[in-house]
Amino acid sequence: MSIVAPDAPRSPVVAAGDAGRGTFAYCSQQYRVVFGVGTSARLGEETERLGIKRALVLTTPEQQDLGQRIGAGLGDRLAGLFAGARMHTPVEVTNQALGIVESKDIDGLVAIGGGSTVGLGKALSLRTGLPHIAMPTTYAGSEMTPILGETTNGIKTTQHSQDLVPDAVIYDVDLTVSLPPHVSAASGLNAIAHAVEALYAPDANPLTSLMAEDGIAALARALPRIMDAPADAGARRDALYGAWLCGVCLGAVGMSLHHKLCHVLGGMFDLPHAETHAIVLPHAAAYNAVAAPDAMTRVARALRTTDAPQGLFNLARGLALPRRLADIGMPEDGIARAAEMAVRSPYANPRPVERVAIQDLIAAAWRGDAPAQH
Ligand code: NAD
Repeated sequence: MSIVAPDAPRSPVVAAGDAGRGTFAYCSQQYRVVFGVGTSARLGEETERLGIKRALVLTTPEQQDLGQRIGAGLGDRLAGLFAGARMHTPVEVTNQALGIVESKDIDGLVAIGGGSTVGLGKALSLRTGLPHIAMPTTYAGSEMTPILGETTNGIKTTQHSQDLVPDAVIYDVDLTVSLPPHVSAASGLNAIAHAVEALYAPDANPLTSLMAEDGIAALARALPRIMDAPADAGARRDALYGAWLCGVCLGAVGMSLHHKLCHVLGGMFDLPHAETHAIVLPHAAAYNAVAAPDAMTRVARALRTTDAPQGLFNLARGLALPRRLADIGMPEDGIARAAEMAVRSPYANPRPVERVAIQDLIAAAWRGDAPAQH
């Protein structure tokens, strides 16, 4: 199940807030999700359902053992393992894997890992038309989106296509238990950012808003428990469930100022992706709060607080995530340059994106101030 309108024009559909007045566009698409504890054992059934007889398992180098263990369960249906997935889907890696697809007569792909591995699965599936099963091990949410970012000679380009959505997704809570607590926290805040922006998206609709609120609530409940007890099965279940919902939001509606800022900051200063999201999110929410009061009410309700931006700030602090862009490698003299870039071709946003206010926002995030409206 999902709510996705990736190939339909997005921004003209509704203005932010129209969904609340009963006017919205909703487009659903069919895909299969298996969710639970120990669901990796269902991989054989899923390959059979898709008619896969010669599967190629994909992982990063670090998750090769996991790929071997899960792949072994496929018996004769396992034709190969490619453990070369890398961040930002470099085209040379995809081409290397394509060579294996051809030489081993592969007829289906199984991506086991985070956004990097799922990205490779998408890139291969797009080029070959082969069925793709994703088994996510982080909270990034790529498995729920019709989006692929690829890198050629260090330049990243993004494309949208319905064909990029995996044919089946197996969420196995067990596969996430090894994700270190601090990585889980950053990845979880990154997921929450998708849901926060989905609540004030230009094409928001009541269904994605339900998922966004529930996704934020599930992750906000789970992440502090994961910090205390990384193997807590209930907390891991809640977090993965929340990540699924937030991933649907990312794939279904347009993202706004927060995602634009993170792309600009990450691209200009090579900042760590998930930590950048965690730091910027409370400030972006504060910027938009006045223009998106209904969204803020829902974020606050999900966080069990009354002030959404402050609630997001407190959540990140409680998870011991870095709170200053200065701490993750952004130079102070980059603030004005980043503001300049961020206001150039901005994404649709509930509040107009103004140069001075955006510079103040970035400066506040650089210093680690509490969120305030600029
Ligand atoms: P990742 O896939 O790059 O994984 C980071 C590291 O953590 C890797 O070494 C991986 O092997 C390891 N790892 C993953 N799961 C683990 C686990 N359970 N236990 C131990 N180690 C584990 O990280 P990510 O944040 O999931 O993905 C980031 C990439 O995904 C970026 O390239 C980003 O652009 C992309 N992304 C794309 C979309 C989309 O919709 N296209 C959405 C989100 C992210």
